[in-house]
Amino acid sequence: MKSGFKKILGVVMIICVFWYMIDYIDVKLEGINSKESNVDVNDKDKLVQGKNIDVSTELVLVNRKYGLNKDYRPEALNIPNIPFADGTDNEEKHVAGVIVKPLETLVNTAKEEGIILLGNSAYRSYKSQKNTYSNRVKSEGRELADAYVAKPGFSEHQTGLCMDITNEDRYFMKGTKEADWLGENAYRFGFIIRYPEGKKSITDIEYEPWHIRYVGGKAAKYIYDNGITLEEYLGK
Ligand SMILES: [Zn+2]
Repeated sequence: MKSGFKKILGVVMIICVFWYMIDYIDVKLEGINSKESNVDVNDKDKLVQGKNIDVSTELVLVNRKYGLNKDYRPEALNIPNIPFADGTDNEEKHVAGVIVKPLETLVNTAKEEGIILLGNSAYRSYKSQKNTYSNRVKSEGRELADAYVAKPGFSEHQTGLCMDITNEDRYFMKGTKEADWLGENAYRFGFIIRYPEGKKSITDIEYEPWHIRYVGGKAAKYIYDNGITLEEYLGK
């Protein structure tokens, strides 16, 4: 009886050790993968779009795979004539010249239709993204930072073609009249909801009803009508 118990105990212990090892190997592998991706990110020649690529186009793709050179600044950065949420950083009020008019028209039309939209955060330079990212790494570690903050060069906000919108309650979620209006109407002004619901496997970013991206009228309508993402539209 006693030796039977010992045998069972032995088997349980072996299973536990085995289990622990699988976990350990997994963690090791993750470590290697994230290290490799860091190497890639630093290898700017490979991943970051260089001078040869026309980044001024409204269809430029910036995501976790495709990034921007640290020197890239949008053309004709300007502050649109729209209301902003209190405390919006001055740099983040700026947008690329090409979207000033469409954005103003969007916000004004919303107002005419009884919806008050506020600008929240648009352009972010490589440098400020770098600060945000490294502060996050310091406070929460690399893994959490990578889950929530884009690495410098890989934030669409550096293009100046997008803006985070909010409302007076600073609660811009699906089901609020402002977020619903934006989701249904942004395409009329050449914008898309860049990170739609249920598309994380493609965009690698959770649903963000507040983040609109200018792609021009034709692309915006096609993307809206077909319920696809910019990645799918560009075949990437
Ligand atoms: Zn955003």
